[in-house]
Amino acid sequence: MGELLADHTTLRLGGPARHWFTHTDPAAWPDLARTVRREPGRPFTLGGGSNTLGGDTGYDGTVLRMATRGITCRHTGPGTVEVNVQAGEPLAGLVAFTVAEQLSGIEYLSGIPGTVGAAPVQNTGAYGQEIADVLTRITAYDWRTGHTLDLPPAACGFGYRTSVFKARPGRLTILTLTLRLARSERAAPVGYRHLADHLAVPLRTRPPLAEAAAAVLEHRSARGLLLPETGDDSRQAGSVFLNPPVTPEQAAAVRAAGGPLHRDRDNLLRTSAGWLLEHTGHQPGQELQPGIHTSRRRTLTLTARAGATANGFTAALATMADRVHAATGIRLHPEPVHI
Ligand SMILES: Cc1cc2nc3c(=O)[nH]c(=O)nc-3n(C[C@H](O)[C@H](O)[C@H](O)COP(=O)(O)OP(=O)(O)OC[C@H]3O[C@@H](n4cnc5c(N)ncnc54)[C@H](O)[C@@H]3O)c2cc1C
Repeated sequence: MGELLADHTTLRLGGPARHWFTHTDPAAWPDLARTVRREPGRPFTLGGGSNTLGGDTGYDGTVLRMATRGITCRHTGPGTVEVNVQAGEPLAGLVAFTVAEQLSGIEYLSGIPGTVGAAPVQNTGAYGQEIADVLTRITAYDWRTGHTLDLPPAACGFGYRTSVFKARPGRLTILTLTLRLARSERAAPVGYRHLADHLAVPLRTRPPLAEAAAAVLEHRSARGLLLPETGDDSRQAGSVFLNPPVTPEQAAAVRAAGGPLHRDRDNLLRTSAGWLLEHTGHQPGQELQPGIHTSRRRTLTLTARAGATANGFTAALATMADRVHAATGIRLHPEPVHI
């Protein structure tokens, strides 16, 4: 039997993959890519598995797990530093490194699980910061052509939780990221009201870098947004739905019901998926399928416990989305990727 997806995803669900490769040595990439290309189909690139649902019967294809490590810094001008990172580095470790080096630009991404290489795929973001804000270059291997590409951000189609990498699954494997960060003792301005309140500062204040990162961890912990090592909420993939776009009529109905609205980077009006779930009767700690519960802390997170299956997880997602659609006409789209 091959490697189990359950052993490499934070939901700990999923059967075996037919073929499995782990990428650890950047210098050995050309050889590894040649070997992987001999298998049928394109590989599924896996990072930390914190946004991936493995199917119960496994994956009848190739999984390529990214485990390369390495961070290098280069001074590029007064007050700016370019940081080059291998795709397999944990994102949380990179954030902690930049905060310790007094480099500002990704401090509000503290505490997000997963790898650096996966961050551009859904343009991972939190508290008003997104990885796309600081990216200057991505190197990615194109499985169609067999070439490694050097991609500027403008070629990556970044939007709210999306990119070309997400739009064309299986086409590109991200190998490295280059970020431009500012040398500063201060964090970027706090753009998120609850975090500003937590820090007891006015919105747009620039708190000391380490204080901002610590506040994010505290705030995430209080909201059930950190991945606990043990306990009922330890098997999860974070938020299960994206914040959906709304029509002007839907927005008016959300506003009338006291729901939140915000504009994304493309100026699309969106509401909160978590608010929609609670507004339509879902609650924290609710069992939706055998072993599949909403988190004890947060309705927007689904957790797996004993007896859980991937089929149960997808059935729970469908039930939740149907209920929201029936009540509001708004369609929810799942955030985790199903392999
Ligand atoms: C507790 C918790 C909190 C979270 N909070 C947030 C949050 O605040 N904001 C947020 O945006 N997300 C959040 N997430 C979701 C998730 O952690 C992020 O999306 C993270 O960036 C995924 O990284 P990963 O390495 O685990 O990706 P994986 O689950 O391994 O992969 C996700 C997708 O990326 C692709 N992929 C992975 N690596 C590569 C690569 N090198 N090249 C090409 N494609 C690749 C995979 O094929 C898959 O499609 C949270 C998850 C959890 C469990």
